[in-house]
Amino acid sequence: MSGEIRDAIEEITIESECTNNNDGHFQSMKKIFTCELCNVQVTSNNVLRRHKEGRKHILRVERQGKTFQCDLCNIVANSQSQLDAHLKSSKHNARLIKKENANQMMKKGVWIIIFGIICIFVNLLLLFKYINNVV
Ligand SMILES: [Zn+2]
Ligand SMILES: [Zn+2]
Repeated sequence: MSGEIRDAIEEITIESECTNNNDGHFQSMKKIFTCELCNVQVTSNNVLRRHKEGRKHILRVERQGKTFQCDLCNIVANSQSQLDAHLKSSKHNARLIKKENANQMMKKGVWIIIFGIICIFVNLLLLFKYINNVV
């Protein structure tokens, strides 16, 4: 029981130490640099620069950039509503239909080629059989 209480007291002291440290830290610094994208606050420009070179930040930038992008038309919109308007536009739908048609054509093309190869193979087989019979 006493151990549990000691643990609890230690937890409280650690917590209060942390908050005191943080408050003192931010109050003593004149400038706070923030990355609004990641909601990160740092106390020096160097740290901010390092943060912006980091993978976490770059990933966020990329993800944000892709939010308003139409990969199909290779178009970047300024806002979600603009992208929505584009996705509903006839221009985008025409591209979408074109792409689907192209995919279907590709599938058909592949099957025609496979069928052609099988035909040639069967013909060759019959030809060899015929030659063997004759000889
Ligand atoms: Zn960031
Ligand atoms: Zn589009």
